[in-house]
Amino acid sequence: MITLPELPYAKDALSPVIGAATLEFHHGKHHKAYVDNLNKLIAGTELADADLETIIKKVAGDPARAGIFNNAAQVWNHSFYWQCLKAGGGGAPTGAVAAKIAAAWESYEKFAEELKNAGVTQFGSGWAWLVVDGGQLKITKTANADTPIAHGVKPLLTIDVWEHAYYLDYQNRRPDYLSAVIANLINWDFVSANLG
Ligand code: MN
Repeated sequence: MITLPELPYAKDALSPVIGAATLEFHHGKHHKAYVDNLNKLIAGTELADADLETIIKKVAGDPARAGIFNNAAQVWNHSFYWQCLKAGGGGAPTGAVAAKIAAAWESYEKFAEELKNAGVTQFGSGWAWLVVDGGQLKITKTANADTPIAHGVKPLLTIDVWEHAYYLDYQNRRPDYLSAVIANLINWDFVSANLG
């Protein structure tokens, strides 16, 4: 049995970058639906009492269990995404994360441009990510529900680029949503904690 985590802030906390109506639907309807669907799919199976990461890793790549994978990965991705955001966040980080970004991209500006570009160029639904892959910081993107943890890659940060993440606030302007999130909402404390 997987439970829907509470949002780590009030529904209007990220306004106007992400409005309260978006969070109401995105957390209360979309994220909740993934949790409910997953629990129906795993009920009475050997996965019924497993934790989310175990479920994702066990069913990844199994076409017969794609429904379980998609819902489990979407639960995980959304729980992670909420923590990647905070009011008054964004802009350039400090400390160890800043040094690693400078080493990998030369400047925060180049990093921010590549992160935005990953989200803009994800065709259709998906996610933009900052990950640690083979000891290196990298920017990646995944389609639909796919998640780095299914591929042995450690996520540090994600931005949801499904239309439901931005359509109420930005309509079709995904680039504007990405720019605003990167400039104003990235929770660098959470990213630092993930970096360890
Ligand atoms: Mn979403």
